[in-house]
Parts: sequence; C-alpha cells; structure tokens
Amino acid sequence: MQQFDYICIGGGSGGIASANRAAKHGKKVLLIESKAVGGTCVNVGCVPKKAMWYGAQVAEAIHKYSPDYGFDVTVNNFSWETLVASRQAYISRIHASYDRVLGNNDVTLLNGYAKFVDNHTVEVNGEHYTAPHITIATGGRPFTPDIPGAEHGIDSDGFFALNAQPKTVAVVGGGYIGVELAGVLNALGSETHSLIRQTMPLRGFDHTIQETLKTLMIEEGVNVHDQTEITHIEKQQDGQLVLTLTDGNSLTVECLIWATGRRPNTDNIGLENTQIDVTDKGLITVDKYQNTTVDGVYAVGDITGQPELTPVAVKAGRLLSERLFNQQHDAHLDYTLVPTVVFSHPPIGTVGLTEAEAEAQYGKENLTIYRSSFAAMYTAVTRHRQLTSMKLICEGESQRVVGLHGIGYAMDEILQGFAVAMKMGATKADFDACIAIHPTSGEEFVTMA
Ligand code: FAD
Ligand code: NDP
Repeated sequence: MQQFDYICIGGGSGGIASANRAAKHGKKVLLIESKAVGGTCVNVGCVPKKAMWYGAQVAEAIHKYSPDYGFDVTVNNFSWETLVASRQAYISRIHASYDRVLGNNDVTLLNGYAKFVDNHTVEVNGEHYTAPHITIATGGRPFTPDIPGAEHGIDSDGFFALNAQPKTVAVVGGGYIGVELAGVLNALGSETHSLIRQTMPLRGFDHTIQETLKTLMIEEGVNVHDQTEITHIEKQQDGQLVLTLTDGNSLTVECLIWATGRRPNTDNIGLENTQIDVTDKGLITVDKYQNTTVDGVYAVGDITGQPELTPVAVKAGRLLSERLFNQQHDAHLDYTLVPTVVFSHPPIGTVGLTEAEAEAQYGKENLTIYRSSFAAMYTAVTRHRQLTSMKLICEGESQRVVGLHGIGYAMDEILQGFAVAMKMGATKADFDACIAIHPTSGEEFVTMA
C-alpha cells in the first residue's frame, strides 16, 4: 500500500488543476491517468476542436470574404492531413508543458486505470494506493444510441482520429458538439448534413440564438434536417453509409458522426466498493464543496452534473485544493453566471438566463429586453453579409442584466468581459455608462436602446 496526502483520479482539466494546486501547498500528490494527460479538453475536446475551427475560419476568409477584400486567390489544395498534423504538434507541446509543470510541482503521475477497492483505497496496475483525501475527476465519454448499424458511425473521438476529410458527412445531434463539428466540416468543404431531432438546435439556449443559428447554418451551406432521426444504417460494398430517416427519406454519406451526448465515467471505477452515491444518470452526488457522500472523497468536473466546461472543472479542482490544503475553509465554486461559447459559424456567446428562464424567475412584466441585429462589419464590406444578433435581458427597476446572448462574428471573444460585469451585478445603466469601442460588434451591448 502506497500512501499519499492527496490522490486525483483522472488527469484531465479538473484532476490536473487540483493536483498542481495541492502540490503547491506542499502536499505529496498522486495523479492517476489511464490515457493521455490533459484529458478530454486537450486530446479530444476543446483544443483540437478549436484548431479545426480556426482552420475553418481560414477557409471562410479565403472563399467567402477574400474576393471582396480584393484578393484574387487560387487555392490549389486543402490538406486535411496538414491541418491535423499542425493540430497534433500543438497538442504535443501542451503535453510537454503539462509534464513540465507536474514535474516542477513534484506531482507523481501514474499511468494506469484506477478502481476503488474501498472508500479510501484505489487499485492501479495491481498496486494499492491510499490517501486521506481523494478526488474523482474521471470525466465523460461519447454516447452512441442503440440503433441498428450504429457501429458504422464514429463519435467526436473518431472525428479527431480522421486522417482524411470526408466528402459527405452526416452529423447527428443538435448540441454543442453536433453544431460545432457540422460547422467545421461545412466550412472546410464537406457536404454536411446536420440531423437534429428537435425543431431547433441547442436545446436550452435562448430562442433567438436557436432561431438565428438555424437560419445561419442553412445560409452557410449546412443541410439541416430538423425533427429527424435515423432508424437504421446500412454499409454498402463501396463503403458508403445509407441512413434511413424517420421522415421516410434516406441519405447516403461517406461518414456518420454521432454527437448525441456524453456519459460520465463512473460506471467502471469500483464505486460499488464504496459508499459514494451516484444519481440515476451516473453522476456523482456532491455538495457545494465538492464533497461526495464519503468523508475525504470529492468529485469535480463533468461527472458532477455541473456545466461540462473545462474552466468549470479547473476552477472547482483548484478551489477544492485551496479549501483542503490552504485553510480557505469556505472556498467553493459559485456555479451561477457561467459564461459559455459555442464555436459555431458564427460563434455564440451566452451568460445568464434565457428569456424563457427569466420570465419564469422574475415574471414577464418585470423584464426589459433589448435586441440588436445587424450585419457584422467584417462581412458587411463584402457580398457575403452575415447576421449578428444580440440580446440583453434586464430585470426589475434597476434593470440588472440577468441574461446576455449573442451570435455573430467575434462573439466568442466579446463575451468574457461582459461576463465579469454581470458577475459584479451590472445594470443596463452601467452598460450604457461605458464608452463604446468603435467600430466593433461588442459596442452594440453598450448602446442598445
Ligand atoms: P476530462 O477532461 O474528461 O478528464 C478525465 C480524465 O480521466 C481522462 O483523461 C480519462 O482518461 C481519465 N480517467 C477516466 N477514468 C479513469 C480511471 N478510472 N483511472 C484513471 N484515469 C481515468 N469545454 C470548454 O470549456 N470549451 C470547449 O470549447 C469545449 N469543447 C469540447 C469539445 C468536445 C468535442 C468535447 C468532447 C468536450 C468539449 N468541452 C469543452 C468540454 C470539456 O472538454 C470538459 O468539460 C472537460 O474536459 C471536463 O474535465 P474533467 O476533468 O471533468 O474530465
Ligand atoms: P449535448 O447534450 O449538448 O447534445 C446532445 C445532442 O444529441 C442533443 O441535441 C440531443 O437532442 C441529441 N441526441 C441525444 N440522443 C439522441 C438520439 N438518440 N438521437 C438523436 N439525437 C440525440 O451533448 P454534446 O455531446 O454535444 O456536448 C456535451 C457537453 O460538452 C456540452 O453540454 C458542453 O457542456 C460540452 N461542450 C462544450 C463545448 C464548448 O464549450 N464550446 C463544445 C463541446 C462540448 P435533444 O436536445 O433532443 O436531447
């Protein structure tokens, strides 16, 4: 039995952040990772996704915008392999940097798969490890529906393993991943079909965002099939996949991507040998301090049912270590007003309540809604004008801003500062008191009437 002060299971966003912070406070820390350091975000999530999104932006600049900016560009080739190689080289540099920081902090990194054998002991590669404090940060994995022929499709992990660009592709799912992957593939030139089982993509987002996104996806060239599911899939001899759809039609594509949600990695980590409670969805039950139902065992990140976002996992992990190892007895993550960006085409930024949520919480009569729609200047100079749509939801007489939503060029970079203002309780008057930065899209949020 090897003894540590602190064990983190899972070397992804939450586990690494918590392990490093604990080590900085002088603790003897073990970080256990079964695959690659960095977890979902670095290896099969945010980072490779954003690299592909940047690649897609370059394609859009060349094909859609460069002619009217005066460039007579001839594209001889687009090499998917080169984009993937650049992306993976960047990820290798991140791996090296993680290894360096963990090493500098004296965190022991153990490659292997951990399973609980009791409340405070885990087994890895046949060895037993224990600590008075253990954090579970095992993240999630893609979920594929049980449909005949589903195995002919790939998931988001498979997307990042593609070494050639599919000419035709169907992306199933209207969530973050479905919308993002469909946008990237379309912009890079694949014939892209987006299959959404609802009428709108991004269930749970503000209706203005959903509607504008759907319109823009179609305008940008994605074939959106709403209220559509697949009943079965057949693989032809030439490798093409024939998808039979619920609307009676069929669709033949080279590649099928399931972006139908994720499931927490909690079903195979020996929780049955502990008193750690999980919900019926397999999420680990935690209180606001990330405590599980077993003293000295904690959980952070995607397995806790909070927004599945890297900065959420990172912050929860760091604050937990501050509380456990740096006498910050009340340190915990405030999960309200978490800003989020969907890297669609164009991107979406959102923080706070949707219009429907605000109505339910404050009553329609207590809300003032401000809207603005315009063609982003970057696009308006060209024939490929692209809509930007923004909305502010304000509550009460003081008009405190409780929801801010936007879709349009640069929305991904605009959001962060406004999220700070909202976290500080900003009102519409505070927004208006700020001098606009001209000419930008962001200035619309401080000039809405
Ligand atoms: P993870 O990062 O998933 O880490 C868990 C780690 O635990 C994994 O490395 C796994 O191998 C390891 N593990 C599991 N079980 C064991 C075990 N028993 N023993 C040892 N190791 C184990 N978020 C954003 O904020 N922005 C984005 O742009 C974004 N894009 C995304 C794109 C995609 C395609 C996906 C899938 C996700 C994206 N996310 C994004 C979400 C983000 O990646 C996750 O919220 C984040 O990685 C969660 O961190 P975590 O620490 O909970 O888990
Ligand atoms: P989501 O839960 O966001 O979306 C899943 C989608 O799949 C939904 O549209 C859902 O439809 C649909 N779906 C589920 N089951 C089926 C089925 N059997 N047939 C057809 N459609 C189905 O999950 P994602 O995997 O897209 O993303 C997971 C999380 O990862 C996100 O919530 C986000 O927190 C994080 N993420 C963050 C990103 C970012 O920050 N930019 C990027 C990518 C991921 P329905 O709505 O009807 O349930």
